[in-house]
Amino acid sequence: MVLAPNVYDAEPIPEAARAEIDRMLQSGDLFRYTAPENAPVTLLEQEFAALLGTKYALAVSSCSAALFLSLKALGLPRDARVLIPGFTFAAVPSSVLHADCLPVLCEVGENYRIDIADFTSRLDTVQAVIISHMRGHTSDMDAIMDLCDARGIPVIEDAAHSLGTTWGGRNIGTIGKIGCFSFQSYKLVNAGEGGIMVSDDADLIARAVIMSGAYEHNWAKHLSAPDAELEAAFARAQNQLPLYNLRLNNLSAAIIRPQLAEVERRVRDGRANHDYVAARLDTSPWMSVPAKLPPEERAPDSIQFNLVGMTEEDTRAFAQAAAARGVKVQVFGLSTDNARAFWNWRFLPGAAPVLPQTRAMLMRACDTRLPARLTRADLDLIADALVVAAEDVMGRGRAYGT
Ligand SMILES: *Cc1c(COP(=O)(O)O)cnc(C)c1O
Repeated sequence: MVLAPNVYDAEPIPEAARAEIDRMLQSGDLFRYTAPENAPVTLLEQEFAALLGTKYALAVSSCSAALFLSLKALGLPRDARVLIPGFTFAAVPSSVLHADCLPVLCEVGENYRIDIADFTSRLDTVQAVIISHMRGHTSDMDAIMDLCDARGIPVIEDAAHSLGTTWGGRNIGTIGKIGCFSFQSYKLVNAGEGGIMVSDDADLIARAVIMSGAYEHNWAKHLSAPDAELEAAFARAQNQLPLYNLRLNNLSAAIIRPQLAEVERRVRDGRANHDYVAARLDTSPWMSVPAKLPPEERAPDSIQFNLVGMTEEDTRAFAQAAAARGVKVQVFGLSTDNARAFWNWRFLPGAAPVLPQTRAMLMRACDTRLPARLTRADLDLIADALVVAAEDVMGRGRAYGT
């Protein structure tokens, strides 16, 4: 029997990281603010800002920390309402609560993207918006920015899973006021843990830098080039803000920096893998892969598809049949305690959210990992297993029957 590919292992960390890590093990220089300049975390911030084309970047301990600091840096009052999609990872509503704000959920369509009509209907009741590009699926950022700009509502992009995705040629994470990325192991760049936020707004970044743990005058180490605007912003924020100490350490930065050169290849290969498997799945009458929106160029490392014409019982049988063929499929709404199913966010205050459209999508949306390193043979194995699993359950004739 052919063994199904392991889709969980990450790629090896580039060899170039080793010398830098050895140097740090020798010197013990792990804290970002020990060196007078050019600490690995500082260099990472400069390189990441250059990669995305933003003025500023701040590396922190996770994307969740970046989202939390973004809300704090906006200076939102306690109990401010923050609109988030009903389909996202539990860390997103959690970061809103952590920032003493209240999450407001909006509907998501069967293409995994924000339902703009429902989003609009809730917009006048909120003071900020987090757009979570869930699994890298980009919502209509033109519509969202027009609607939010017209009301003066700040947009934070949760681009945790969207490094390398573009919208109308612009990098995802640079369209809203702040963009947040993750370096957790299941994302495109893997440091085990870590996150980074990008922005062109000096005041926001200055406040986030200080709250991330740049105590006393450590903020000066974020001024690698003369920047009067940023310096003035630091001076205004000095001693005004709490320190949450969510810094990244130099070891993590040393693991991340050489991977930035790999981003382009991972994006190219991940997209090709995704589109190849998507075309195969779309030949099945029982599966449908939602199309991307026209301005979007994706950077996927997994594939999501909807089951068509299957009952809940069929859906469970399909996931079992795929597993028997070595491919793990997670149906977001059916797997127990799934952190991406909003009804499992029991920690939300107030009445349980009612989002029938999002719920219906989650009950038939499947998720399978598809890392960039897979070969064509691996992809065929995965696609075959899924297509045949659906046939096992639904019967070869049923789609075309009476
Ligand atoms: C992974 C992920 C997060 C959380 O990132 P961490 O770095 O683990 O905090 C948030 N949002 C989305 C969409 C994610 O995929």
